[in-house]
Amino acid sequence: MAVFKLDNVEDLYEIGNILGSGHFGQVREVRERATGVLWAGKFLKLKKGAGSRLGLERKSVEKEVEILQSLQHQNIMALKDVFESRAEVVLIVELIKGGELFDFIAEKENLTETEAIEFMKQILEGVSYMHLKNVAHFDLKPENIMLLDKLAPNPDIKIIDFGMAHHFNQGEEYKSLGGTPQYIAPEIINYEPLSTAADMWSIGVITYILLSGLSPFQGETDEETLRNIVAMNYEFEPSYFSQTTNMAKDFIQKLLVKEQSERMTAEECLVHPWIKPLNRTQIAKRNRSSINMKNFKKFNARRKWKMSFNMVSACNRFCRLQLLCKAHGPEQQELRDCESDQEDTGTKPASLLRRRLSSSS
Ligand code: ATP
Repeated sequence: MAVFKLDNVEDLYEIGNILGSGHFGQVREVRERATGVLWAGKFLKLKKGAGSRLGLERKSVEKEVEILQSLQHQNIMALKDVFESRAEVVLIVELIKGGELFDFIAEKENLTETEAIEFMKQILEGVSYMHLKNVAHFDLKPENIMLLDKLAPNPDIKIIDFGMAHHFNQGEEYKSLGGTPQYIAPEIINYEPLSTAADMWSIGVITYILLSGLSPFQGETDEETLRNIVAMNYEFEPSYFSQTTNMAKDFIQKLLVKEQSERMTAEECLVHPWIKPLNRTQIAKRNRSSINMKNFKKFNARRKWKMSFNMVSACNRFCRLQLLCKAHGPEQQELRDCESDQEDTGTKPASLLRRRLSSSS
């Protein structure tokens, strides 16, 4: 079982600026008082009692911690320490300063497929490592793929947020309804038994977007997106994929496969000719092809706008909740203690697919 320290985190770390926020709390820069070294602190609100609707179950945080403790890889965010107080758990993790991979790419003028592949390779190496350890991430998406230091000549990829990850025990059947509509595999929507293959579907979607700036299953609403996924309703629109090699399309096609057992594994991806070319002709093709940068920038700007919109909506809901708390007194206290546990948007399927709704047998 994961051991959480009972020391007051502030005695050992100086708490600094907010680096980001999630559904269940904030991530802040922290400085270790003894050494002066900078880390990130992920502050997760805990449920106050069995009846409480808000905050995270301690068991769920333990699961995230145990998984992070079991993973030590250059492309996966490292966990240093865990502290627990009455209301929250604080994960002290590696500080990842380089921001999101997609933001880094969107700042560039141009990116060849060869350059994009260097990043894909690192993502695949991290994912292959965790899959070999029978861990599935279940929330791979651009927001969870960061760069350690974007000024480095070859920046290191770091996969973050293992809040929905699961370690499969032998013979275990595991189902989950968690994830983000655009990136989830059909078996999640259908509430079927899952495997590490669900992550490979998400990698197919991420690669599709990276090359074209289009999201393969995106509908007008989340409902429509989910229907498109289940119906496998996607194509390579020629106007968006005019600069893409056939090898890249083949790579994506072998990931966006409905049958889990027929989807490429991370190990297989690493030896696919798009990632590991077999001859000079293949190398030359990758070098000549580039990602659809104009459209990718548009996709990324829309994505960032949506993220800020969600953040503002969450803040507005929090303010409304505070007013409610004042009006209704102490019975509303628990709402106040969990301000960050709010829905993304008003859309129903996204709220159905909230994290950590899972079952195992
Ligand atoms: P979600 O609600 O998306 O599941 P979460 O509560 O599990 O989120 P994370 O996704 O782990 O939280 O982190 C929230 C944000 O904080 C990230 O999107 C990222 O911007 C920032 N962040 C997370 N970990 C780090 C880190 N180690 N270093 C720097 N920033 C980080």
